Amino acid sequence: MNKSFVSNIKTHLLDRKKIVVIPHLSPDADALGSCLAIYHFFKNNHEVDIISPNEYSEVLKFLPSEDEINRFDLSKDKCVKLINHAEIIFILDFNNLNRVRKLSPYIKESKAIKIMIDHHESPDDFATYAYCVPSMSSTCEMIYNFLSEYDKNLIDKDIAECIYTGIVADTGSFRFPSTSSNTLKIASELIDLGVEIDQIYQNLFNNFQFSRLKLLGKTLENFKKVKDLPVMYSLLSDEDQKTNNYKKGDTEGFVNFGLSIEGILCSVLMVEKKDEGVVKLSFRSKGKISVNDFAEKFFNGGGHIHAAGGISHLSLAETEEKFLKDILTHIKS
Ligand code: 5GP
Ligand code: MN
Repeated sequence: MNKSFVSNIKTHLLDRKKIVVIPHLSPDADALGSCLAIYHFFKNNHEVDIISPNEYSEVLKFLPSEDEINRFDLSKDKCVKLINHAEIIFILDFNNLNRVRKLSPYIKESKAIKIMIDHHESPDDFATYAYCVPSMSSTCEMIYNFLSEYDKNLIDKDIAECIYTGIVADTGSFRFPSTSSNTLKIASELIDLGVEIDQIYQNLFNNFQFSRLKLLGKTLENFKKVKDLPVMYSLLSDEDQKTNNYKKGDTEGFVNFGLSIEGILCSVLMVEKKDEGVVKLSFRSKGKISVNDFAEKFFNGGGHIHAAGGISHLSLAETEEKFLKDILTHIKS
């Protein structure tokens, strides 16, 4: 990491500051782990508030001090006030204001110093200081680099747990190619700080409701293969979700099952979000097939080369039809 990134930021934090920390919409373990690590690191010397744009999986409530997180969708006035008074805003695990939807104008208009730490492709140019490296496994790995350069002695067990959780989640438990020797070195240092890896594993992966298993069953049953292409996709209608008591975050990881089939290089999950009038798409791929450019070009989205997401404003059936047409163009080109 560029050392001047840390020394520049330090100059702004010599006296007590009002800091606001923001993850992307529907934050996942990497986004919330990053925010809470920053919260714990600075909370003794500064006023730190986390604002999540909306709800997130119940599974993540084990993260230390998760109950301190403010929700923009539940307490808008308080959150707007916090942003308006903020002197420093951390932008974590996203690099484009579309990723926070209704929070976007408040961040744009804020006069605060904006610090972006993120690992997605093509960052937008709105931050005062940016540490953006798409090859990094997770934003949490970058947070570790940042905090250890800032003052390694201040990284305690709570911070270590937040960071470890984000790294495990974003690397698929150290399986994805973005897992580097440095990722593993950091994990080892986090264990030395007291992280109980079995406990984190139980909290993250063995803490679901029975209905989520049924929803997975429905997703697997709905998988189809695209004719003549190494592509699988599945759909979850609003009805499928209601029947199986869908809760926020339940479909996390489902899309990966398509890639478990021999010869398949791309897997897609389309989830109908009837109350928002959209279909949320998740893309995963292997090898030469990239999905971030596909998501950006056809579904107003983006992400990483092998893991991306997007949105469709069409019905579920129309989205499926559009996807089948677009994927043909994308893979042939
Ligand atoms: P997921 O499929 O798990 O929702 O997202 C996979 C990856 O794509 C994540 O890194 C996420 O940040 C990114 N992503 C998901 N949805 C969107 C979206 O609507 N826009 C952009 N730019 N990125 C997305
Ligand atoms: Mn991430």
